[in-house]
Amino acid sequence: MTPADQTLAPPRQDAARASEAPPSAHKRDLAIDARELTKSFGKGAARVEILKGIDFQVEVGEIALVMGPSGSGKSTLLAAVSGLMKPDSGSVVSLGTDLWALSRGEIDKFRLRNCGFVFQGFNLFPALTASQQIEVLLKFAGVKRAERRETAVAMLKAVGLGHRIDYRPEKLSGGEKQRVAIARALAKKPRLVFADEPTSALDGENGQLAMELLRKAAKEQGATVLCVTHDVRLAQYADRIITIEDGLITSTDADPNSFVH
Ligand code: ADP
Ligand code: MG
Repeated sequence: MTPADQTLAPPRQDAARASEAPPSAHKRDLAIDARELTKSFGKGAARVEILKGIDFQVEVGEIALVMGPSGSGKSTLLAAVSGLMKPDSGSVVSLGTDLWALSRGEIDKFRLRNCGFVFQGFNLFPALTASQQIEVLLKFAGVKRAERRETAVAMLKAVGLGHRIDYRPEKLSGGEKQRVAIARALAKKPRLVFADEPTSALDGENGQLAMELLRKAAKEQGATVLCVTHDVRLAQYADRIITIEDGLITSTDADPNSFVH
């Protein structure tokens, strides 16, 4: 290999090598850096602390799972990290931007530009076809009309829904709806993908497919995926497992094998 070849080596290989080195040897390339996040709901005696000082980091290109029991604060955490709900205190540096230092409008723009979401329960529009669900989102992202349909069809084919392009949600199975939601989240090739219990309404086979699609996005598009779930079967798809219990992080590098049953 000549020196010129070395400088032309793909950066992603370097990133992979860097992640194998001791953390002190390199400054890691962080997609998400959450520090000391707190969030309470309710007032006075009814006040409940849901996030009690959350710290964790996710590297660019990783698929990270936040696992914890129901009620442990996962959805609240995802909302705080993704710019959907302001924490009471703490900071989130997302792709190098101090998210909660931005104005509401700037946060909305940041999400539109950089983030894809897969919500628990899909959040599809009942009146729109599978293709239109994606086209509407692309319109908001500023994609030209001619490209919207083409991209939507390509994304639906990629998730195995080439035969459901003009179906409305009422005519789709649970697994098909979830695949539309995933195609929609990935359509604008977001740098960050946030998923809240993406497999909760799916049987084992469809759950596996959903995770494989998210994993493919991380590995092929270089996206960073942060997924929260209580489903231990998803552990095998993660590069990093963060565990949360009662509003506190209990591990930021749990062993995937410890969840296999
Ligand atoms: P998880 O996603 O891990 O199941 P959540 O983050 O949804 O947990 O919720 C954690 C706790 O916070 C739950 O007890 C829930 O009832 C409570 N909670 C969540 N959102 C609100 C809210 N907007 N107002 C009051 N309590 C809330
Ligand atoms: Mg939840």
